[in-house]
Amino acid sequence: MKKIFKPGSRLIIVFILTMVISGGILTWLSIISISNFRQLTEKKVAEEQLSIIGQVALKFQQKLEDITNNFTAILIKENDVDWSAVKYSDTVDCVENPFIINRSGAFIWPWYLEDPGEVAGKVSSAAYRQDFQDAEKNEFQDWDYSKAAFYYRASLRHATGKPDSAKSLNALARIQLKIGNTGRAYDYYTQITSKYSSVLDGNGFPYVYYAILNFLKSNDSIYTSRILTEFESFLSGLTNGTIPLNNSTSEIMTQIAEWKNNTRISDDNQFPQSDEYIQKINGRLKFINNYNQILKTSINRGIIREYPLILGRFNVMNEIPGEPGKIILIEPDEEYIFGFCVGLDQVMSHIMEINYCEYTEFEYDIILVKREENGSKNTNELITSAQFSPLFPAFMIRIELKDENLVDIYVKKRSWAYGIALILLLGAMLLGILLILRDILREKRLAHLRSEFVSNVTHELKTPLTSIHLFAESVLLDRLNTESGKKEYLQIILNETERLKRIINNILDFSRKESGQIEYRKEKVNLTDLITSALKDLNYWLDEKKFTVQTELEENVVITADRDAMKQVVINLLDNAIKYSGDNNEIYVRLVSEKDKISIEFEDKGIGIPADQLDLIFEKFYRVNETIRDGVSGTGLGLTVVKEIIEAHHGELLVESKVNQGSKFTILLERNTIE
Ligand code: ADP
Repeated sequence: MKKIFKPGSRLIIVFILTMVISGGILTWLSIISISNFRQLTEKKVAEEQLSIIGQVALKFQQKLEDITNNFTAILIKENDVDWSAVKYSDTVDCVENPFIINRSGAFIWPWYLEDPGEVAGKVSSAAYRQDFQDAEKNEFQDWDYSKAAFYYRASLRHATGKPDSAKSLNALARIQLKIGNTGRAYDYYTQITSKYSSVLDGNGFPYVYYAILNFLKSNDSIYTSRILTEFESFLSGLTNGTIPLNNSTSEIMTQIAEWKNNTRISDDNQFPQSDEYIQKINGRLKFINNYNQILKTSINRGIIREYPLILGRFNVMNEIPGEPGKIILIEPDEEYIFGFCVGLDQVMSHIMEINYCEYTEFEYDIILVKREENGSKNTNELITSAQFSPLFPAFMIRIELKDENLVDIYVKKRSWAYGIALILLLGAMLLGILLILRDILREKRLAHLRSEFVSNVTHELKTPLTSIHLFAESVLLDRLNTESGKKEYLQIILNETERLKRIINNILDFSRKESGQIEYRKEKVNLTDLITSALKDLNYWLDEKKFTVQTELEENVVITADRDAMKQVVINLLDNAIKYSGDNNEIYVRLVSEKDKISIEFEDKGIGIPADQLDLIFEKFYRVNETIRDGVSGTGLGLTVVKEIIEAHHGELLVESKVNQGSKFTILLERNTIE
């Protein structure tokens, strides 16, 4: 059975099929990945957003740990609690309203007197009590204020403790106000504010408050600066805890602020800190107001320890009604309970400062939102929100792309890049296939030429050998009578041998060139002589075929070249002119030397070369079809060798030819490179 494909072409078909299949798969995969690219990008965005949420949660937790560590570092020294340090602990970043309460829920810091009531004090002396009773009788029953003042002063002398003194001074001030002696009254009040600022009356109300309330009533400008000083020490006492807060403090704060507004104080700097104090005090009052009840209830029901324990020793109260953005950290294990408040906003402001987008492909906005407000926004796929801390269940972190169009642009860019890369790849594959096919065709043609070459060579060698054989035999058998006849035969044998030599030289040269062994020996060569001698060598053939050779040779044109190689060039070109002249036996040889160029022309009026084969005749083994049909023998190597030699001498070989009109081969040599 005849094989359809030769083994070589089978391999090529397998190769091309592989290319086509892999190209197809690649194209298919690329198209799929381009069309999935949007989905992939959105997935990437979601992944990046989740990773940011994870980081935010982690940083948040770390920040809370830092806060508690810093707070404990201030308050707890070598495992003992330094209660007094709580005053300064609000300097710790993010610590708000540090507090201490006792086991019954009363605020010790900030010092707050919750329910005024009977206060058990030191028992006063009998003399004091007598004087004070007399004084009150005079003041409230008899309205004899001077006598009342007299007894109050006596009581003051019999006072045995601070509460007694403060009580008497307060009464004395009151009497002075009643009799219209404001100056004296203020003197008494000043004694209270300066010496008895923390002393409470029988109902647990600080005497200082009476003094301040009375100062507030003053609208006489002569007392302004004195009152200002009083207010300043009152506010600073409240702030640093030497004067207790109670449920009227807030009202007094409002009044002091109003008084300041109403009283034209010439120099603001007289009391610059007042606003700051008032703000601080109001803050504490607000905190007490908000958390007093809840703390008390928790203590009474003993549930403080049931709050989630986080960050080591702190229990956390969160979800406090009306305060979703706050948590209270409580340490209930000591004799007193201490703790502080942490505001979400403040912690978040630190968390948001961190750049989470350093390693992400896209830029994101990170937003803190309330859980209930978040619902509507989540329909968009490019937004991710999640809880970031179990301590703030009412809040979420929402991560949005800074610019939603970025995804579109990104997808478009990538798709283009993929598309172009794919087209280039397919193009390269196609080019590869074409190149391979071209190589295969060339190989095929060469193989064909090579096989023709063998039969051509055989034929080429056979012709002269047959002549040599024939003529040698004739001479040997003495078939010729005359000496001149014998000589002629021997001459023919010699010429045929020369021709054989030329053929073999061409083959040898070609094979040497193929294996890269050719070397040229440069020497001075007289081209004029060389051409003349070549013509002489071929004289026999020219004569035999009755050629007219016209030469225009410039005298003594000398170049540096390989003599033998140059001769071979000239002989090959003349030999071709003889072989392919058909019936027009005219040959023209011209040697022209110009300033920097030398040209040698070999022109015949023979069969010519078809234009489409003009480039091919220089290829190895190539022979024009017609010449083969006409029975002109040759190896297809003559011009290959000529071209190789000329190029090795940095020259050019040109051909002009027209079918049936003749051919002209021109050699151009540059004088510079030769000499
Ligand atoms: P060969 O002459 O041995 O065939 P060459 O390499 O010398 O090989 O020439 C290649 C082919 O070029 C020849 O077969 C011939 O067809 C063509 N050719 C060369 N010289 C001439 C010429 N002067 N006139 C016409 N055809 C030519």
